[in-house]
Amino acid sequence: MPRYEYRCRTCGDTFELSRPMAESSAPADCPAGHTDTVKLLSTVAVGGSASAPAPAPRAGGGGGGGCCGGGCCG
Ligand SMILES: [Zn+2]
Repeated sequence: MPRYEYRCRTCGDTFELSRPMAESSAPADCPAGHTDTVKLLSTVAVGGSASAPAPAPRAGGGGGGGCCGGGCCG
């Protein structure tokens, strides 16, 4: 089940919920019980204002072996 990140506008907390995609835009209560929350873009965030560090994409994208490009895989 995909995880979605939300921010509570009442207390400023951010929290994650695992929920079906069909409910991704449904209202989510913050752990403190507030209902004024907004859904954040998941880790593919644009601005960089999110405090959570996004995992860096692997360089090369070839699977890590360095095989492709060396002539051994095709
Ligand atoms: Zn809250």
